[in-house]
Amino acid sequence: MGEVLLVLGAEQLATPQGTGAQGGAQLGRLQVIERGGLAVRGERIVAVAEGGELERRFPSAKTLRLDGGTLVPGFVDAHTHPVFAGTREEEFELRTRGASYVDIAKAGGGILSSVRGVRAAGKEELLALLLRRLERFLELGTTTIEAKTGYGLTFEDELKCLEVIDQANRSQPVECVPTFLGAHDYPPEFRERPEAYVDLLVEDMLPRIAETGLARYCDIFTESHVFGLDDSRRILERARELGFGLRLHVDQLSQLGGAQLAADLGAASADHLEYCSAEGIEALAEARVVPVLCPLVPLYLRIDQEAPARRMIDAGLAPALATDFNPGSCMAQSLAEVMSFGALRYSMSAEECLNAVTLNAAASLSLADERGSLEVGKRADFVHLDQPNYRHLCYELTRNPVRTVAIAGKVAFER
Ligand SMILES: [Zn+2]
Repeated sequence: MGEVLLVLGAEQLATPQGTGAQGGAQLGRLQVIERGGLAVRGERIVAVAEGGELERRFPSAKTLRLDGGTLVPGFVDAHTHPVFAGTREEEFELRTRGASYVDIAKAGGGILSSVRGVRAAGKEELLALLLRRLERFLELGTTTIEAKTGYGLTFEDELKCLEVIDQANRSQPVECVPTFLGAHDYPPEFRERPEAYVDLLVEDMLPRIAETGLARYCDIFTESHVFGLDDSRRILERARELGFGLRLHVDQLSQLGGAQLAADLGAASADHLEYCSAEGIEALAEARVVPVLCPLVPLYLRIDQEAPARRMIDAGLAPALATDFNPGSCMAQSLAEVMSFGALRYSMSAEECLNAVTLNAAASLSLADERGSLEVGKRADFVHLDQPNYRHLCYELTRNPVRTVAIAGKVAFER
């Protein structure tokens, strides 16, 4: 049905392959086609081959003619906090002068300063801010993001954020996969009685959020200064019962055993993992949880500890790499940049990094059957880079190489 569009003229096409997360040695495999192109019909890819071959197979097709460069799948960011009002440059500067993340949080800064911003902001304002950020994601080649709430921390304010995400999905092409993060921190009014907030989440907020159908995942910040292991388990078991998929912020600032909890609960992802133990890695591998690693965050927090990415890959795990875009611990939206840091900090190869920001990220969001790679039958989400090959994504720092982005077969951005 419908006309075929050929995407021709690139020097190279590079893509992971498959409909699930790629771990271990598989993580380093890509299909690379010199002078490769795509045939797209409607939203879908109908052929992936060398350009000349596509022209012979589809002689009367329309053509999107590219001027060299490289074609890769649209990037998928599996961990972002994009709904916020106000920025936190003061904290950034406090950290550059030696304050720690937990010091700042305990002094009422950190997440709580963003909670004040979101509570004070109206829906229109939050939506305008989110739309501007989504434009930036698109320019940087990101075609799908996971989008967390977590700066409202009352039912009404969390709902406001989920409605803003829903509205954004209706008004522009970058899809936001919504995650409820009511257990991001204790709201200021519950500081003296944290257990009451856990009760409220379990008995009231989670069931009411589930009823709205506006969140696909439930996430939590499991750490000793926020939600401990027992409370985390209680909240997440309730969420699972209500039909949410699970994602967890774990083992980011200390070795609490959050990875084992994520494995035990059958979570879709376990995120951060800087302090993940050998037992944690083993548990994640056994339960096939996708580790979502955010290499820019320790840099932002000025923490030396790095996630044991190489050991995870050796254990067969299938990591995704994400920005963790948020106003406190990562004011950055570029997955190309994240790939460079994946290479420089985690010793991941260019092939592994590309897999981690496309197919594995999509798999952590249960979207790998139709996104994350350039293959027949998948949605035509692709990025054209002005770089001679995919290895430049890791190799080049600070310059945006994205020239064209298409989502579902339609050009959504061009430069
Ligand atoms: Zn986060």
